[in-house]
Amino acid sequence: MNGRSRRNFLGGLAAAGVGSFLGGKPSGAQPAAIPRRIDVHHHFTPPAYLEFLKAHNQAGGRVGGGRGGGLNRAVAGWKLDEDLEDMDRSGTATAILSITTPGFLFGETNEVRKVSRECNDYAAKLRSDHAGRFGLFAAIPAADPPGALGEIEYALDTLKADGIGLYSSYGDFWLGDARMAPIHEELNRRKAVVYVHPIEANCCRNIVKDVADTVVEYGADTTRTIASLIFSGSATRYPDINWIFSHAGGMMPFVIERFVAGTETEIVPGVVTRGQGNIPPRNVPKGVLYELRKMYYDTAQATNPVAMGALRKVVPVSQILYGTDYWYRSAAETARGLVSNKVFNEAEMRAIDRGNAERILPRYRA
Ligand SMILES: [Zn+2]
Repeated sequence: MNGRSRRNFLGGLAAAGVGSFLGGKPSGAQPAAIPRRIDVHHHFTPPAYLEFLKAHNQAGGRVGGGRGGGLNRAVAGWKLDEDLEDMDRSGTATAILSITTPGFLFGETNEVRKVSRECNDYAAKLRSDHAGRFGLFAAIPAADPPGALGEIEYALDTLKADGIGLYSSYGDFWLGDARMAPIHEELNRRKAVVYVHPIEANCCRNIVKDVADTVVEYGADTTRTIASLIFSGSATRYPDINWIFSHAGGMMPFVIERFVAGTETEIVPGVVTRGQGNIPPRNVPKGVLYELRKMYYDTAQATNPVAMGALRKVVPVSQILYGTDYWYRSAAETARGLVSNKVFNEAEMRAIDRGNAERILPRYRA
């Protein structure tokens, strides 16, 4: 049994007795016990994206994610029927679809605009073909601001996407960079939900022999871009964007003492922490913790008690959203991790599974 089959098998066991789950309407003997999770970190592979990657020699079958070696497993392995099956088996009511790495960092301007549009149209079709099961964080050509603004308008106004998907960096800049300002201005004006997926920056691709970029760089780049948004003043300047960061914020919770540099802060009530340095961060008038505690963080690949225990000490449970990282990880694994980590009580789990997402994605309110 390969890893994938084994995950499906375990998922089936974990969900035994849950019954069917179709169109958001639970059935069976214990409807109250069936979670109706909203998965905010869920990847799909539109045919246009696959063709785009093949055209750029990203179709070599490399395992482990990342660029430079070939098509990663999530892209090659995604199948709609298996996806729906995984959702049904483990209580995912709705998956908000997004494109995983390597994304759109290669290709001509018009080509990237075209493939972004085709990916978004494909997601919109899945959403209408399977009512209630899918949403969309739309792909945009973020390194091409005019193209990005056009796609934001199309995705949010025409397709009614749930939000916009960005990557943690674009080659050599992170999200607080001035080059992102026109995009942030527009997303802020629309009070948009912006989902941020990690990717390797140019600086840091394949830099440690024997270590896949996903091991360290994804968490590091997520942390860099959170820091970039906060310390550049972008988070303060664009306060109405609802940011969602992947994987429990990467390393952010663990390096929180560096984030609060120059201040004496009670990160945990009753415990004063002094960050290194004497100069409070510029551009952050309301404080770093205020900004961090407005942002949202998903549970994907971070359901263990170490990551979730740290995250919930830094941010309120209201900021934590259920995310699986499907195809890489199954819904069953994610749900089991969250329940078995003993970090959250039942009410908190309901908030993470769905309630917190409903606040920023009103389409899914009961
Ligand atoms: Zn992912």
